[in-house]
Amino acid sequence: MAEKVIHIAESITVSELAETLNIPVTTLIGELFKNGIVATINQRIDFETAQIIVEELGMDVEIQKKEAEAAPARKVHELTDKAVERPPIVAVMGHVDHGKTSLLDAILKTKTVDDEAGGITQHISAYQTVRNNRMITLLDTPGHEAFAALRQHGAALTDVVVIVVAADDGVKPQTVEAIRFARSANAKIVVAINKVDKEAANVQLVKTQLATEYDLNPEEWGGDTVMVEVSAKTGLNLDKLLDMVLLVADIEELKADIDVPAEGLVIESHMEHGRGSVVGLLVEQGELKPGHFMVAGTAYGKVRTLLDFQGKAMKSAGPSTPVTVTGFKELPQFGDEFKIVKTEKEARLATEKAGIERSKAAASTNVTGADMLKMISQKHESQELKVIVKADVQGSLTSVIDSLRLVDTGGEVTLRIIGSGVGNISENDIRLAADESTIIYGFNVELPPAVKRLAARDKVQVRLYKVIYELLDDARHSMELLLAPEVVETEIGKLTIKGVFRTLKDTVIAGGEVTSGKVMPGLLVRVKHGNEQIAEVEVTHVQREQVEAKEVFEGDMCGLSLKTGKKLLIEEGDKLEFFTRELVTRTLS
Ligand code: GDP
Repeated sequence: MAEKVIHIAESITVSELAETLNIPVTTLIGELFKNGIVATINQRIDFETAQIIVEELGMDVEIQKKEAEAAPARKVHELTDKAVERPPIVAVMGHVDHGKTSLLDAILKTKTVDDEAGGITQHISAYQTVRNNRMITLLDTPGHEAFAALRQHGAALTDVVVIVVAADDGVKPQTVEAIRFARSANAKIVVAINKVDKEAANVQLVKTQLATEYDLNPEEWGGDTVMVEVSAKTGLNLDKLLDMVLLVADIEELKADIDVPAEGLVIESHMEHGRGSVVGLLVEQGELKPGHFMVAGTAYGKVRTLLDFQGKAMKSAGPSTPVTVTGFKELPQFGDEFKIVKTEKEARLATEKAGIERSKAAASTNVTGADMLKMISQKHESQELKVIVKADVQGSLTSVIDSLRLVDTGGEVTLRIIGSGVGNISENDIRLAADESTIIYGFNVELPPAVKRLAARDKVQVRLYKVIYELLDDARHSMELLLAPEVVETEIGKLTIKGVFRTLKDTVIAGGEVTSGKVMPGLLVRVKHGNEQIAEVEVTHVQREQVEAKEVFEGDMCGLSLKTGKKLLIEEGDKLEFFTRELVTRTLS
């Protein structure tokens, strides 16, 4: 039996594993290297690799697999006998680049794939499509690994998860994650084997991987997992995929009430110039209409405009309908539940209550200055300030980066820009920063609420500026915090011992003459016997003529109580030097 048992999930980053094992990350990277794996600290290694490396390191540690955390259970609404059928909510998930967006695009015949910033879907978008006169609600969940948290929400909302696997690439880490999420959310699974038009497509291999490793057995092999071979490019079998989604959803008899106040979830939220808050909602029950008072987390408002996923005005939106509303006075957060209340007053009261609860929760997660210092002292042994820079346009990004380079004078602390880009702060930036304990500087950009929450959770410092020299000042100050503080000692006075009255276990009471400067309680003292310093102690009390004194000056006699911490032999004639010691933050030269 190993001395220590640690639990890790399917995969773990190199830095997390080093932390868990309590070894330097460089040791771990070195060991991986010896085993032919070139890894950076942010890279994920799988469970098996972790096991092998720990063994190679000769550590008495047993690694066991931790089951993925269950997605938050979806709130189940009690149904009345008036409940009606509702469209299934379908999340499309899978590994990055396996074709989720292309598939949705082909189904909806819109051009979303071209609009994606950096080629990664940045938010959950919801759409609807019709097949055989039946409505299907589709959620496009972010595909990049950095969005695992969001994806978890995606699964929790979902009746059916379509897992997209590229036939030319097979099962990949995010495919596995999607399977786990779907299972923990109790959603039905339909596998879409995509890119079958490609020459390198190997459908059999994908099926074998899913069946043997993940217990997803295709129907034609006697299992009960629906797998459809599709191509987003040629449009092959897309209708069949939708038929299968409906078929699988029908097993569940999906219903919802409409004669109840509307309720659901916030699935997107951002500010837009001229429109104010623009919030994506997914209605789960009831009917949402313009003019309704709505509450979500700490935000409330009146539905001003109600739009469908294509931006067309709606008179009402029933269960499973994704809508965009304007009218929230503040931005609610992604994942907040929304509900309708009767009056504005009721809405305001509900948000005040939510605000109190949220600030209680936030109090324990906010990053404090002390945290910051601790973080810096722990993680910046290299005395390097790492930053990520985001700016509104390429021109300002270039000038911020150029100016930051000038702040780095090549001194004791250096500044390294580990990432930069145009656009708002994204989850990806937070994830990158979280692993490297980096500061993110935003110049003329925003920190969307969902990202802000992530930053708070991961204790990532995000600093937004509109004035470039303020940003540079901040960077300079942050670098100064990394300089080892200077220890400054200031001489205050000297004294010669004339007599020792009592020597206790950890205290000495003595008297003497102040030979220079002054003596005050609270000062530190070097005790010298001849030329030799025999101890460093502290004065706790000073007396002059048997009365407690605040200070006693040169030429006067006084009594002293010295905190020695241990039994200390002080003799007549010993010299005492009184001083203060401070840690002073240094400034960059
Ligand atoms: P996502 O990251 O999962 O959303 O993947 P995308 O939809 O962005 O697709 C990634 C790449 O694969 C793009 O270059 C697509 O054009 C390509 N792609 C997607 N589906 C197919 C397909 O069925 N066949 C082929 N040949 N390429 C595809």
